[in-house]
Amino acid sequence: MTRVFNFSAGPAALPEPVLRQAAAEMLDWHGSGMSVMEMSHRGPEFTAIAAEAEALLRELLAVPAHYNVLFMQGGAIAENAIVPMNMLRGHASADYIDTGEWSKKSIKEARKYGGVNVAASAAAGGYTSIPARETWRLAPDAAYVHICSNETIGGVEYHFTPDVGGVPLVADMSSSILSRPVDVSKYGLIYGGAQKNIGPAGLTIVIVREDLIGQALPCTPSAFDYKVVADNDSMYNTPPTYAIYIAGLVFNWLKAQGGLPAIEAHNRRKAALLYDHLDTTPFYRAPVARECRSLMNVPFKLADESLDGAFLKGAEARGMVQLKGHRSVGGMRASIYNAMPLEGVQALVAYMKEFEAQHG
Ligand SMILES: *Cc1c(COP(=O)(O)O)cnc(C)c1O
Repeated sequence: MTRVFNFSAGPAALPEPVLRQAAAEMLDWHGSGMSVMEMSHRGPEFTAIAAEAEALLRELLAVPAHYNVLFMQGGAIAENAIVPMNMLRGHASADYIDTGEWSKKSIKEARKYGGVNVAASAAAGGYTSIPARETWRLAPDAAYVHICSNETIGGVEYHFTPDVGGVPLVADMSSSILSRPVDVSKYGLIYGGAQKNIGPAGLTIVIVREDLIGQALPCTPSAFDYKVVADNDSMYNTPPTYAIYIAGLVFNWLKAQGGLPAIEAHNRRKAALLYDHLDTTPFYRAPVARECRSLMNVPFKLADESLDGAFLKGAEARGMVQLKGHRSVGGMRASIYNAMPLEGVQALVAYMKEFEAQHG
């Protein structure tokens, strides 16, 4: 068996110990005689698995008691609709901050359900920075302020939590959730698909302050009404049971690593190794402003783009895959989520040096 260093933006690499445990438990989970995939979601085995996963997530993120943790489906793209359906709460509009491809998608979808005020945009700078908080033109009567904490495609990340006064802050954290501690109490709602930093695709995490739910638009599908989901412990419809089980194993793994402060230190080391190298040579270029560089997704370009194909081919030959940048921006992108070991980034930097020596 050979495992590659997988730099995919998502679905992304999972911790190897988690995959091994899942393999060992595949046919017979804890003496139940069943795979987790075969269990009733209402049976005692799976109920315990889901409760433990929720408890671990609450512990890792120190989620306050007055927040609901919901396990949903549909990914962040579905949440882009589910959020306004649930969070407009009688308000005419919501504020959105436009920092790249994923915020643009959120904005486009929200317009179907209510007014959208784009309070700040990084479009003019080619989406290489986060607009300074002082420049945001927030509406005092907005239902909420929406941000994308980490733009997975552009590699732009908030390294501060914006103060938006009494208006609930809503964050798409798909690609940065659990990469470092966050103060959940500063948010009204946090959402994210699992397939970047948590587990398999199919599970969506929603963390929402409980006083904000219960006022969904009448057209909201019951399965997407946060109040209905919360009242039914995320089992109004059949939840993505196997994905929740794997997420629970990942949460356990994270806890064993020392929790989020320890994983943050690890992530900062990995990112610094890569950015520091990018900054030493004009052969490669990192387009994002220093203070907004993502710890999770590192886009970079070769000064001579005609070498892109050779770079990717050489990387693959050395067991490093999925380094091609998103089609909308080109170049390269190294996604280095929690599960990417330091050795993976070291191997990439060594290869980048070798490639430059050959072609520079
Ligand atoms: C991947 C991603 C999405 C899309 O998630 P789906 O699971 O495909 O719906 C949305 N927002 C961000 C920030 C992402 O990284």
